[in-house]
Amino acid sequence: MTITTTVTGRLAEFTERLTDELGEEATSTDPKLIRKLSSDWSRLSPILMEKLPPGRFLADLVVRPSTVDDVPTILRLAYEYDVPVTPRGAGTGNYGQATPFDGGVLLDLRKLDRITEIGDGFVRVEAGARLTAIDRQVREAGHDIWMFPSTKSSSVGGFIAGGSAGTGTIKHGTVSDGWVRELRVAPCDGSGTDFWVMGPDTVAFTHAYGVSGIVTEAVVRTDPAREWVAFYASFPSYAQAVDIHRRLPELPILPRLASADEPPLVASLPAPVELDSTRTSLRIILEPSTVETVSRWVASAGGEVVAVLDGYEQTDRLSGMSYNHPIYFRQRAGHPCFHLEVNGRALWDDPDAVKSVYPNSVIHLELGPNRGPFGMLAADYQSEEQVLDGFARLNEIGIGVHSPHQWNVDRHVEQIVATVPRTDPKGLLNPGKLSHSP
Ligand SMILES: Cc1cc2nc3c(=O)[nH]c(=O)nc-3n(C[C@H](O)[C@H](O)[C@H](O)COP(=O)(O)OP(=O)(O)OC[C@H]3O[C@@H](n4cnc5c(N)ncnc54)[C@H](O)[C@@H]3O)c2cc1C
Repeated sequence: MTITTTVTGRLAEFTERLTDELGEEATSTDPKLIRKLSSDWSRLSPILMEKLPPGRFLADLVVRPSTVDDVPTILRLAYEYDVPVTPRGAGTGNYGQATPFDGGVLLDLRKLDRITEIGDGFVRVEAGARLTAIDRQVREAGHDIWMFPSTKSSSVGGFIAGGSAGTGTIKHGTVSDGWVRELRVAPCDGSGTDFWVMGPDTVAFTHAYGVSGIVTEAVVRTDPAREWVAFYASFPSYAQAVDIHRRLPELPILPRLASADEPPLVASLPAPVELDSTRTSLRIILEPSTVETVSRWVASAGGEVVAVLDGYEQTDRLSGMSYNHPIYFRQRAGHPCFHLEVNGRALWDDPDAVKSVYPNSVIHLELGPNRGPFGMLAADYQSEEQVLDGFARLNEIGIGVHSPHQWNVDRHVEQIVATVPRTDPKGLLNPGKLSHSP
């Protein structure tokens, strides 16, 4: 068969072939839908908003596979016609990493949402299944999913391919630290097939933004379920809240989450109990037998236990105020700001030094898998230059920075770069996200 060489011609032939193979309902060129799905949550970053405003980069068509076997077919044709493919789950990624820089296909994976097996210590799911649905079903079967992000309605494939950590991370680390047992991956190599990877081999596909292959199914680990409680405390000062935050790893059963916010962030948190916005808020998902100990610690540090709420719905609400969410709530309340993902003990030991780098800084704290602090540093935005200039100063005081203001793959880069020549030799998968090499 002769393939047309113009871009428009190739796209038209590709779409026709795809429609023949998967049916009319699998593709859409509705401009409104294309515009909506061509952007993600990069609006959290004022820098990305300048660079990737909605509408600047648009896919040519949306393709919605309804079975996992459709994905290798789509990628076989994309390879044949040189059509770029950008995968998308729920679109909550906040680095612009699901933006279709070169047009082509926006691969909407949300219809692949089946939860196919709940076993002892694992759940087998399709990539578009939402973590809310997965967690609900595994809880009913007596298990806890190891981790989920504060955007719990995101897809499991998007969390594995675009996220990093969340509720459960204190015990289990990030998405690349063993949670993912197996992945089914469709490459864009013309083969029209897919393959499974296991254990450490999954790392080349985690936090890879889909550049090394499209994840269509995953097997992720679970623990036996516990009856977690949502614990709210408040303190007159940040230092007092830190006294408790740093002690939490001493508990015999680790908390699932431990978030703290300075007063300026507290006012906009949508908590189910009244939070005093003049005090530092500490919110923890605790195992019930540890509540008494933590309550004692809070009292002896001069704090107050605000509420202890039973029920999984309550712990979910608490999760919904963790990680990047306090930044989103602050922006929504009318305080424009940028944020950085930061880690290092100075967040506990020398917060004033951390906050001296940018104007009007505030800290949102989380407890990390290494029993140390990490979190978000939010501050007034002036310019991209101002933001970048602060990195070196933060590094000087021992603070590591992960920038949420750029879309390049920046974790496991070596494994990903080594995998791509085999799985995407033409560079059609999510173009523009692997532009630097290790
Ligand atoms: C307010 C807010 C709070 C957040 N909190 C957290 C948090 O607690 N923890 C955290 O880690 N992240 C967090 N994020 C970031 C984001 O929510 C997570 O990365 C999320 O899990 C992404 O899932 P998604 O389904 O929305 O993926 P998408 O945004 O659709 O995609 C994410 C990336 O993965 C690629 N991709 C999607 N599906 C696949 C697939 N099946 N195969 C291959 N590639 C694929 C996309 O191309 C994109 O590059 C937050 C974001 C916001 C805006």
